[in-house]
Amino acid sequence: MSKQDELNAIFKRIAGEHGKLTAKQVEFAIREIGRVRGDIADMLADYAGADGVIKRSRLLRLLRELETVEQSLRQYGTDALNGIIEESADIAIEQVRIAFHRVLSESLNTVSLNQNVIDYVATRFSDDGLVLSDRIWTTSGVIRDAIATQLRSDIIKGESVGTMVKNVRKVYDNQTWMIKRLVVTESNTAYRTANAMSIERSEVADWVRIVDNGSRHPRHKHHKCYILAHEDRYGRGRGIFKPNDSEIYCPHPQCSSYIVPVLKSEYL
Ligand SMILES: [Zn+2]
Repeated sequence: MSKQDELNAIFKRIAGEHGKLTAKQVEFAIREIGRVRGDIADMLADYAGADGVIKRSRLLRLLRELETVEQSLRQYGTDALNGIIEESADIAIEQVRIAFHRVLSESLNTVSLNQNVIDYVATRFSDDGLVLSDRIWTTSGVIRDAIATQLRSDIIKGESVGTMVKNVRKVYDNQTWMIKRLVVTESNTAYRTANAMSIERSEVADWVRIVDNGSRHPRHKHHKCYILAHEDRYGRGRGIFKPNDSEIYCPHPQCSSYIVPVLKSEYL
């Protein structure tokens, strides 16, 4: 097996491993952001009378207090996402370092690489013109609105606090797909960015190749990753880009494509 083939196989395997890590990161974020359910349960208990029901006259005050719930949602979300991005960047950099050492006996200077990746992911504008913190605000706002709508209707109906807590849980469960989308997108972006920046830093490759990785999706051929992986932009072969062509860092939301180094001829 050539050294290039060997690296291709390693980068494919570690992309698969990162996919499994992402599934755990999604669970973690849903759990962390879901701590807000406990905050709301405490708040409802404070508002309820001895009969376990919240008076309609207290409705407006309670809805105003959801402002603090939204702040908590944003805080839990920001903390969780920052941790996830750092974890994915760390793992990607370390895997590139190990792969280059094992296959090519080359070392990689990783100083400040992780911070460069985190800075890129935190400040990148997505197609909707938003940065990461905006996307966390948007998601928090949508979850808070859904919870407010449910609480309003439950109080008007005179539901018990016990029922309201259950309903808040259901509303939250219905919104977790947004958290999943956010985590999968950002974690994979951090992973690809870290791979590309590590390769750019190394001596062994000046070019990278993007490999599309979602062929089970029915509309995969319409995905930007498929288009990029089949484009020969520089006349060097399909899917080959410069490591700083940042459009390959996040071809589209929830993209699981990955990046491999294209070895310089002297390393082949
Ligand atoms: Zn994709």
